[in-house]
Amino acid sequence: MKCSKCGVCCRLFRINLTEEEYKSGRYRTEFEEFGLVEDFKEAEMCGANIIMPNDDGSCMYLKEGRCSIHKTRPQSCRNFFCADKRFDNMIKKIDEYKKASIKRVE
Ligand code: SF4
Repeated sequence: MKCSKCGVCCRLFRINLTEEEYKSGRYRTEFEEFGLVEDFKEAEMCGANIIMPNDDGSCMYLKEGRCSIHKTRPQSCRNFFCADKRFDNMIKKIDEYKKASIKRVE
């Protein structure tokens, strides 16, 4: 099964960067205005390693329904696939979101 590129996962979930990704400075992150948190465990605890969301909660790199940094997207984005049973809880949330979206359109 291939990714349908619906972009729902990029709207629903917060993306945690790895230590290397966080320290690379390649990504815009929550609380970046306060500077880099040197201790990565501390960064994780306060959520400083999370990609900055848009006002609607979607990932800031989601542009016109597509990932604008696809080739350099974070590892957690590479790992996730909504047909993989390991991600059951996330898949349920995606299904709920899609059903709610359909109801809003009807
Ligand atoms: S970085 Fe790209 S793939 Fe990852 S959540 Fe954001 S838009 Fe989606």
